[in-house]
Amino acid sequence: MRDHFEIRDHDAAGRIGELTVPRAGVTVETPALLPVINPNIETIDPGRLRSEFGADMLITNSYIIRTTDDVREQALEEGLHELLGFDGAIMTDSGSFQLAEYGEIDTTTTEILEFQRDIGSDIGTPVDIPTPPDASRERAESDLEVTRRALADAEAVDAGDMLVNAPVQGSTYPDLRERAGREAAATDLDVFPVGAVVPMMNGYRYDAMVDAVAAAKRGLAEDCPVHLFGAGHPMMFALAVALGCDLFDSAAYALMARDGRYLTVSGTEQLDDLDYLPCSCPICHEHTPDELRDTEGDKQERLLAEHNLHVTFEELRRVKQAIRDGDLLELVEKRARGHPAMLDGYRALLAHADQLERIDSASKGTFFDVSHESADRPEVRRHHDRLARLSVPDSLLCSEYGEPSEHDYDAVWRVVPPFGPFPRALSETYPLTAEVPDRTDAAAERAAAEGIAALAAANPDAEITLAHRDWGAEALGVVPESVTLEDLHAGPDGEHAPASEGTAESRSESE
Ligand SMILES: [Zn+2]
Repeated sequence: MRDHFEIRDHDAAGRIGELTVPRAGVTVETPALLPVINPNIETIDPGRLRSEFGADMLITNSYIIRTTDDVREQALEEGLHELLGFDGAIMTDSGSFQLAEYGEIDTTTTEILEFQRDIGSDIGTPVDIPTPPDASRERAESDLEVTRRALADAEAVDAGDMLVNAPVQGSTYPDLRERAGREAAATDLDVFPVGAVVPMMNGYRYDAMVDAVAAAKRGLAEDCPVHLFGAGHPMMFALAVALGCDLFDSAAYALMARDGRYLTVSGTEQLDDLDYLPCSCPICHEHTPDELRDTEGDKQERLLAEHNLHVTFEELRRVKQAIRDGDLLELVEKRARGHPAMLDGYRALLAHADQLERIDSASKGTFFDVSHESADRPEVRRHHDRLARLSVPDSLLCSEYGEPSEHDYDAVWRVVPPFGPFPRALSETYPLTAEVPDRTDAAAERAAAEGIAALAAANPDAEITLAHRDWGAEALGVVPESVTLEDLHAGPDGEHAPASEGTAESRSESE
């Protein structure tokens, strides 16, 4: 067990946790966002980050500090907390980014970790190799071997009570990511950044990001705190948290501000294009878009950076509340509507529903069926698995309408897309208390049909009848031939069949 990380609450694979950072004497609630501070360019004074924005931890680059003479001396003399004027926890990066960018750096894992320890970092990082997406398999494997040795070197460093990162690489090869996760979890290192996902996010490849993280998570243990390295745009927090990421870092708030860009939870806007500010943070409350546009360079950059950080922390709080309420996937679904690439990310997440299902808590708030993708949620899959274990009488009517006033069936179960059939006794249990739309879509019908198929497969001797509301051919194609179909959509007069009583009459006529 990693005793510095405790999980307090769960939803999908997302969690609220507590990361104890002993050297800082700080406990950080996760999911947490670490603003990136460039020691040479402070867009926002780090001293304000904790009191005004709620940042308990920030991240800065020890390689930049080490290679900037006056900053290095000051950091060694006063320590990092004094240097930056920040009393929360400080994570330091190692120069791996510079290595990836320029091909070489002038340090080793042992040297840079000792330096991080000496300047008072609370969480240090070895020199791993961030292999970009779509690298050749040969390169991804040889880079991974270098990273594996860096982790071994890191274990050998006397880090004192500084926690140490164990980065997980592997490019876009799920098996390599999984193996890297397993090897990292087997070290005695403490925090697990999933690396080299920035190029995927910059390219709007959220589905590739999801696959890489899901693979890394399969290798990592449940109690490993996971950092999605370089991810700081609020539009993807819900998705990444639902996958099981606990830490994020944002350089985006400052970099975007430098380019006059304004972050929102559904994307990035140009300040120049805004007639209104869709936000109530102190900056947006106190300024009009024109006032922001007329503000001089550095100050405009700072104001935009403050807004960007406010909106980022606000989204993180929203994500945490969603975990508490058990509706994180509904938040992911909403964010997925902001951009087609996010929708790809959400669909990729649902493709890992098995993996989510193992972790997802079995009981939470109310399941909202709000999209085509809701039919692929882990709760639907779990219900289908459960159907195979329910005992079924000899003759069973599964009906989307109420129970007929007269009938000869041994039992009548409800059918609710996307779940499918279930006994009335389960109506008040999660997720069958779901709010579902009256206008069912094809995906929900199909999922319900899969539920019927699961029930029929587990009970080959039962006589099962399905009374459905005009399901489409795709859904009906899934229902096994052994199941008797009743389409009660059109009554004897071509009228829509009533939703409760009276269905028995229609049925007896068609029988
Ligand atoms: Zn704002």
